[in-house]
Amino acid sequence: MVNSEKLYDLCICGAGYSGLVLAVKAARAGLLVCMVDLNQMVGRRILSTGNGRCNFTNSSMNQSFYYSNHNLDFITDNHQEIIDFFKELGVFYRDFDGYYYPITNQAKTIKEALENEVKDLSVELYLNDRVVDINCKDSFEIITHRNTLHSKNVVVATGGLAAATLGSSKFGYKIASKMGMKVTKLAPSLVGILSNERFLKDLGGVRAYGKVNYKNHSCEGEIQFNKDGVSGYPVMCISRFIGYDELDSNLGDLVIDFIPYLLDEELALELESRFKRSPQKTVSDALLGLCNEKVISVVLSNALIYSDTLVSKLDNKDIENLVQAFKYFNISINKTKGFDNAQVTAGGIDLNEIDLTSMESKKIKGLYFIGEVLDVDGICGGYNLTWAYTSADIAAKHIIKVNK
Ligand SMILES: Cc1cc2nc3c(=O)[nH]c(=O)nc-3n(C[C@H](O)[C@H](O)[C@H](O)COP(=O)(O)OP(=O)(O)OC[C@H]3O[C@@H](n4cnc5c(N)ncnc54)[C@H](O)[C@@H]3O)c2cc1C
Repeated sequence: MVNSEKLYDLCICGAGYSGLVLAVKAARAGLLVCMVDLNQMVGRRILSTGNGRCNFTNSSMNQSFYYSNHNLDFITDNHQEIIDFFKELGVFYRDFDGYYYPITNQAKTIKEALENEVKDLSVELYLNDRVVDINCKDSFEIITHRNTLHSKNVVVATGGLAAATLGSSKFGYKIASKMGMKVTKLAPSLVGILSNERFLKDLGGVRAYGKVNYKNHSCEGEIQFNKDGVSGYPVMCISRFIGYDELDSNLGDLVIDFIPYLLDEELALELESRFKRSPQKTVSDALLGLCNEKVISVVLSNALIYSDTLVSKLDNKDIENLVQAFKYFNISINKTKGFDNAQVTAGGIDLNEIDLTSMESKKIKGLYFIGEVLDVDGICGGYNLTWAYTSADIAAKHIIKVNK
């Protein structure tokens, strides 16, 4: 147990992605930095990012990829700066259509680069140690379940509620509330959706391109069907809205357009011409190539057409039903897969409580909040790690300026 009178310049609660980025920057500037994390290792969550590959930034970068209750016009394109930051740590990148990963394609490269740097910079690590309280006196007193630390500045980088098994906690929200700061409603985001639809048993394992609509939100990409629900990029990207509606018991349905590249009338013409071209074919054969085979089979069943019907037997009403079934494929939502399976938390500490030029609390000087704990969440594609970096960078610049 440590209860020393040692006074750190900066104590970072949470040695996750944002905390590590900040520690590197502050320690490089000569500040005496310590970090506390409840996990046995730093950057535990980084290992799970991007399916173990860590999609750490994106070349398309601006505020439109993020959600918050606050205006986010301070978010600008800094992806080149992030690439340069990791290059300096020895990490080269791969660019997949603007999605950036380490060249090794391994998230552990990012985690280890940050970890090695904080160790080289002599950042003091208190691991397997949970911060339970922060008191503001002349300096800050950081109470952990094993130690009491003292620091001139404290940064709360404890993340959100998503994926608890990787080490998330309510601590950031708890401490903000204790300091009289408002926390907005929290909902799971970038999370799969559960549904009881019977046809999912036939679609389990299918990946199909489509546009997913939910109320007035929509997103296009590869949809992943499971026996108990749906996920994949477009579902994940709109899941935050479903998460919020779940809180308010106001769930709508998902409506999938499997042929988003054709308008309704264009699809009707396409079907008509396919059917005219090969009147001797069965309808399931005639539809081949439009989208995934298993999807076609469920679509036919929804349109009340037997798959072995000869297309010469179909009429305009059947074509109308098929267009409807392909483009307005309804999936009733049971619920989201919850915080435990979410990648991020939507909502968080209200940005009105934060000076966005420094990430410092407007109420308590020297107390800062960065990363997922704040009310900012991004879509899939490296945006959440970019936010974690951006907020850490803003805090670092200010803390270094006022403490040197
Ligand atoms: C499966 C998965 C895949 C993802 N993939 C991507 C991706 O490819 N690209 C992307 O941009 N984003 C991705 N994300 C989101 C990304 O991981 C987070 O946005 C990011 O890690 C948030 O950074 P943070 O520093 O705010 O929080 P975290 O990285 O979660 O760090 C918070 C740290 O605080 C510690 N902590 C919490 N409470 C306490 C406490 N009381 N005391 C001490 N320590 C505490 C935790 O142990 C943790 O180490 C993914 C998330 C998950 C779960």
